[in-house]
Amino acid sequence: CGIVGYVGPAEAVGVVIEGLRRLEYRGYDSAGVAVPDQDGIQLRKRAGKLANLVQALDEEPLPASSTAMGHTRWATHGAPTDPNAHPHLDCEGRIAVVHNGIIENFATLRAQLEADGHKLASETDTEVVAHLLEDATERANGDLAAAMRDVCRQLHGAFTLVAVDATQPDLIVAARRNSPLVVGRGQGQNFLASDVAAFIAHTREAIELGQDQVVSITADEIVVTDFHGELAETKDYTVDWDV
Ligand code: GLU
Repeated sequence: CGIVGYVGPAEAVGVVIEGLRRLEYRGYDSAGVAVPDQDGIQLRKRAGKLANLVQALDEEPLPASSTAMGHTRWATHGAPTDPNAHPHLDCEGRIAVVHNGIIENFATLRAQLEADGHKLASETDTEVVAHLLEDATERANGDLAAAMRDVCRQLHGAFTLVAVDATQPDLIVAARRNSPLVVGRGQGQNFLASDVAAFIAHTREAIELGQDQVVSITADEIVVTDFHGELAETKDYTVDWDV
């Protein structure tokens, strides 16, 4: 029900947890956070309140990272359990995905993936996206944004999706259809969220993504395209309400 992503010089997990806290009012049943690391994706996720996730992070901190993404879940497919909490991973633990919304054709996609040898670990509709990205990045020679566009063209339903790849730790790629996604433009740091409330303490410069668009962010760059790779025009606006 809430999504936050961050790339920049600050301690990324802390920024993301703080952002998730600002989205708590939307309601949720589970929460999780992931960072891309040289040993693969590192993540913590817990059913229940954000406090459960924070406790897990206290007990077993994630490695320091300039990139992180987090999620609060409102379960639609699969009970609110730890394994069904987001982020979800591909087979190799290289790609992590968080998702708000519903992938309507997930059952067909899951059956195809399983026939191709993918092992899925949860009951969610979301997890297929991590496995589809695993195959699509291979076809796209590692280009995560191109892979995201490829996958989005295969999906039906409503989604805000955010993905990180452990082999490209300074990059976050996200997409949206019928579900909200805003980019926060900072100085030498950038944010992604389902709602500006998540990053307004850091920047008020925002870009609202249009329907069927994909965005790539690094600390210094924001690139927006449609689902076919055409560059999209974006318009910054300034959030003028108070925190
Ligand atoms: N459909 C996904 C799930 O049940 C995402 C739900 C959400 O929007 O948080 O895991």
